[in-house]
Amino acid sequence: MGLEEKLPSGVLLTTVEKLVNWTRKSSLWPATFGLACCAIEMMATGAGRYDLARFGMEVFRASPRQADLMIVAGRVSQKMAPVLRQIYDQMPEPRWVLSMGVCASSGGMFNNYAIVQGVDHIVPVDMYLPGCPPRPEMLVDAILKLHHKIMNEPLGPKRVRQLAQAQADGAATDLHVEMPSSVRVDKAARAAYERAAAERRTGQFAIEQRGGNAVLLPEPYVRSDR
Ligand code: SF4
Repeated sequence: MGLEEKLPSGVLLTTVEKLVNWTRKSSLWPATFGLACCAIEMMATGAGRYDLARFGMEVFRASPRQADLMIVAGRVSQKMAPVLRQIYDQMPEPRWVLSMGVCASSGGMFNNYAIVQGVDHIVPVDMYLPGCPPRPEMLVDAILKLHHKIMNEPLGPKRVRQLAQAQADGAATDLHVEMPSSVRVDKAARAAYERAAAERRTGQFAIEQRGGNAVLLPEPYVRSDR
């Protein structure tokens, strides 16, 4: 691998942030999820000629719980929107969304009542990829740009500060996770959800429900009883 030439003395100094981000971007596992014609190009990207395995991404996971990248490949119909959101909600944090093709990004030529006019109405999108359909080279390019973005994501208190700034600027909105049925049936959990919704922190609430400790929203929105 030429590692000896890059590290002649065998010592590498880095930061935890860079190391964590490097591991995250080097093992992005996409959810097995295709909606329309763009999905054919996505499948071609995973096959031998373009070989996503080069980026540690050959494992398209059958379960969203094992995936951290959602490639929205194709137009999103109104009927499919809640299904898409449910798959997104089942993916563990941290997770990323790549909107593939003009239809997923903006509804494309389907300017009608049956198609969601952009998947960012349903889930937050990290990378938009234009084209109809985008060729596999374009998808690989978008994935590499997403890798770059992940490599530059701050962690811990720096992330909290960044989110606080985004909140102050009005750029970060609550992701609004719908009340899950397991919460709806439990009176106490339901009241907790309603409190979280009033504070516009349902995304953070969902993470806590799953036992996660990631901080999604800035400090004023973190529960005071912890
Ligand atoms: S962008 Fe083009 S190829 Fe992709 S889903 Fe829409 S019509 Fe199909």
